[in-house]
Amino acid sequence: MRTELYIDGQWTRPLKGGTFPIVNPATEEVVHHGPLGTAEDVELAVRAARRAFDQGPWPKMPGTERAKYLRAIGAGIRDRLQELARLETIDNGKPLPEAEWDIADAAGCFDFYADLAEGLDKKPEEAITLADGRFVSKAVKEPVGVAAAIIPWNFPLLMAAWKVAPALAAGCTMVLKPAELTSLTALELGAIAQAADLPPGVLNIVTGAGSVAGQAMVDHPDVDKLAFTGSGPVGSRIMQAAARDIKRVSLELGGKSPFIVFDDSDIDAAVEWVMFGIFWNQGEVCSATSRVLVQEGIYDRFMDRLVEETKKIKIGDGQEPGVLLGPMVSEKQMNQVLAAIENARTDGAKVTVGGGRPAGFNKGYYVEPTVLTDVPLDSDAWKEEIFGPVVCVRAFKSEDEAVALANDSRFGLAAAVMSKDDARADRVAAALRAGIVWINCSQPTFTEAPWGGYKQSGIGRELGRWGLENYLETKQITRFVSEEPWGWYIK
Ligand code: NAP
Ligand code: MG
Repeated sequence: MRTELYIDGQWTRPLKGGTFPIVNPATEEVVHHGPLGTAEDVELAVRAARRAFDQGPWPKMPGTERAKYLRAIGAGIRDRLQELARLETIDNGKPLPEAEWDIADAAGCFDFYADLAEGLDKKPEEAITLADGRFVSKAVKEPVGVAAAIIPWNFPLLMAAWKVAPALAAGCTMVLKPAELTSLTALELGAIAQAADLPPGVLNIVTGAGSVAGQAMVDHPDVDKLAFTGSGPVGSRIMQAAARDIKRVSLELGGKSPFIVFDDSDIDAAVEWVMFGIFWNQGEVCSATSRVLVQEGIYDRFMDRLVEETKKIKIGDGQEPGVLLGPMVSEKQMNQVLAAIENARTDGAKVTVGGGRPAGFNKGYYVEPTVLTDVPLDSDAWKEEIFGPVVCVRAFKSEDEAVALANDSRFGLAAAVMSKDDARADRVAAALRAGIVWINCSQPTFTEAPWGGYKQSGIGRELGRWGLENYLETKQITRFVSEEPWGWYIK
């Protein structure tokens, strides 16, 4: 566990010398003290990234060269998979197998963007057909410049990879700030980049508070692009700051994603995907399917199975074999989730299963997997993100009603539909106002496919070729090729 920041290819103590406690949410123990970066450290990191972009080899080298570094980082992550997964579980609380999955995906993300970096060499320019034959024109892609990435605590290393890999593939340089709650693996990413001989300043990692280090990154005039994943209110502030300097901005801000289950569905398959949709990663998932709409013909049978299976979920320290639900990331998050459940009760919702802290734990920020029914449509439990293992289930009659209920949200990150009737599933998928629609499943995420939200769930798309576009500018280059003079002034 590291005690220094990674700036300009070197490990440096925070200039003000501060630290912050790193707590294992399963035991409530302080396991380490991380380096508390401040605006002064961000200044050094942005300067290093600026220098690496303006004067260094990184943006100018062929994509094929950058790809070698990306692959080396991917391999470096894979080599340390077990160790990194364990750090992730200690820091975030998630079950170890889920952490291993995250780390493998993070490595895969670097490999994927290595391929795309190579692709930039294969198709470096796009010829443009002009109606006016006196000119020939082409469009080329160039890196945006210095990118600042601010990420949340729910998928620590994976969220870092989603931003670092495409930015570096594009030829950008970056300053990364992980969430204070989960800084351990981001700092290890610095060590992996260093071992891969990444040129100094290309990737800089500053840990510290969002309101201090994060804000300094957002406000820095030498940053060209802000990439953020987290809460709506902070996303809004970041967009306002970006507006002042006309910085490029991409935001991924969570949601209240619906899951529509039609009555021709296999009930066990529906229960399985609904449970995966809301309980994996403790429900601390921006795309969690937290509003479930079940057609009335199977509603009772669906609920019986959901309650039965939910009661069986093994809760505990993510390092223990067989655990399927770890603690919430922090005491604050636990209290927020418990308060949301209490407010739901006050608003008239029925707690069908769960609803509090599980019995038998005297330590750890655990919350029971919770199923709410009779949730009023105007209550916060139905409308607002809870970011915990809490699902609202409601019956519906018709397809139109289900789509209307699903779309009645200020969010639009993800949605899911289950039906054996492919035509109906396709129709509903088309009608749902969301950036990601899953048919007959929920949550699987692919590095190759676009990820991002409609409405207040964000702006822009990550992953796939769309993720690379986030870090590229488009330049038009036009040549005058006519034998005839232009002849406007000089006849
Ligand atoms: P958050 O405050 O939005 O934090 C996300 C990131 O932004 C963290 O790195 C945070 O740093 C940083 N940050 C905070 N204030 C900042 C500022 N003024 N300028 C720049 N960066 C800033 O989210 P949270 O408090 O961790 O979680 C609150 C809620 O957000 C959750 O309950 C959930 O509803 C939602 N959330 C959504 C996602 C998602 O994937 N879309 C992920 C996590 C949380 P520090 O945390 O180190 O201060
Ligand atoms: Mg922690």
